[in-house]
Amino acid sequence: MNTDKPIHQCIKDKDPICVNCKYYINLAGVGFGMRCSYNFSKKEGELPEKIPSRYHSCEHFKLSKK
Ligand code: SF4
Repeated sequence: MNTDKPIHQCIKDKDPICVNCKYYINLAGVGFGMRCSYNFSKKEGELPEKIPSRYHSCEHFKLSKK
């Protein structure tokens, strides 16, 4: 029996990963990928920092209210 599940089914709402973080921004639809708005200064012409994947995490994680 194959017990492998698609990884998106394994994510729980409170897992401390970027996709559940209040600073997570998904700009993939406009070609800029996944970004982190923590420490983003909103200067003209700059984008929030790229993150390697939505499963990434860091010490600044803060649970999103969704
Ligand atoms: S890098 Fe850290 S602060 Fe940014 S979205 Fe991911 S967990 Fe949140």
